[in-house]
Amino acid sequence: MHDGLKKRYAASLMNAFGPPKLVLTRGEGAYVWDADGNRYLDLLGGIAVNALGHAHPALVAAVSQQLGTLGHVSNFFATEPQVALAERLLDLVGAPPGTPGKVFFANSGSEANEAALKLTRRTGRTQVVAAEGAFHGRTMGSLALTAKAAYREPFEPLPGGVTFVPYGDADALAATVTDETAAVVVEPIQGEAGVVVPPADYLAWAREITAARGALLWVDEVQTGIGRTGAWFAHTESGVTPDIVTLAKGLGGGIPIGACIALGESADLFQPGNHGTTFGGNPVATAAALAVIETIEKDDLLGNVNHVGELLRSGLADPRVTDIRGRGLLIGIDLDAEAGAQVVEAGQRAGFILNSTGPGTIRLAPPLVLTEEQAKELVAAWPGILDTAYDALGGAAS
Ligand code: PMP
Repeated sequence: MHDGLKKRYAASLMNAFGPPKLVLTRGEGAYVWDADGNRYLDLLGGIAVNALGHAHPALVAAVSQQLGTLGHVSNFFATEPQVALAERLLDLVGAPPGTPGKVFFANSGSEANEAALKLTRRTGRTQVVAAEGAFHGRTMGSLALTAKAAYREPFEPLPGGVTFVPYGDADALAATVTDETAAVVVEPIQGEAGVVVPPADYLAWAREITAARGALLWVDEVQTGIGRTGAWFAHTESGVTPDIVTLAKGLGGGIPIGACIALGESADLFQPGNHGTTFGGNPVATAAALAVIETIEKDDLLGNVNHVGELLRSGLADPRVTDIRGRGLLIGIDLDAEAGAQVVEAGQRAGFILNSTGPGTIRLAPPLVLTEEQAKELVAAWPGILDTAYDALGGAAS
């Protein structure tokens, strides 16, 4: 299908991603259309990005209006949407009243984490503790915090001082964090690892352990933040106040933006000249994020995320499914066979965009506007998708 464009793609774009699965031409709400006019229900949402779905009128209006007024100015100057978004995020992050807080804007998750990593160095300490299975990005700094050997090894040596401990294991944290640890960085739910949910008290333990050693607690909410789990931030459920929270993905609803929020004493660790960015905090990107936040609030999308997420988690049970986990609309599904790629393929042929994070694991991260009816479309098609996938797997094995 559209081999012409695929050939041009292969000839002109670096082969960092492998061949594209489809050529997409437009979207509306939770649906996208390919170049042949086929419609797909998008259960991946640009990898947890399209919070308001595709072509949402509020996002289109906010971006168009801002671009038509003042599109970019650089960080030599201030703009209203940038300041308003920083204030909004500091309000939503839910720190106790009176807690100082400051935001640094970037353009992606990796960049938000890069800013945070540099911020931790300003403590005077250089050691960071991260978790096995963690994904924090692909820049050299954020890659140093990312556990997967296949991502790291081609680029070693990476910045040092990083120790990995088993995810969800408070004892391992307690044994590893010392008076020389600058920060512990942790995802509230590990997204790329396959939607891995830690024990309920893990973040509270991490907070206690870091506080006792004078280390910062840095929560990477790039994938989980801004409503994805049915709350503004996934960490708030545990009642902790982190020192650093990083965001990206859903924040801009598809317009690139990242944010590093620093709370308490870490809010003032950066001094002029310590860090910088040309685009970060750009008026168009920050206006987009404000529109995303306003729409989530106005349309009670957090309520929708909880309701539709629950419907999917119960509706997708099947004898071939060994585990369904996650919160809100970040869902991991384990299969009893290594059929992940086949499920994605069968799903696509049936009109659903799915994603596998590993050989036997499917991840769903659909737009937060996914309706009950749309969720039921996947639930109805699911057994047939698994039938086709398992047939294909059997065929491949024989
Ligand atoms: N942190 C987490 C938790 C992520 O899931 C990702 C992206 N998958 C990143 C950081 C990196 O974000 P980006 O791809 O925007 O650089």
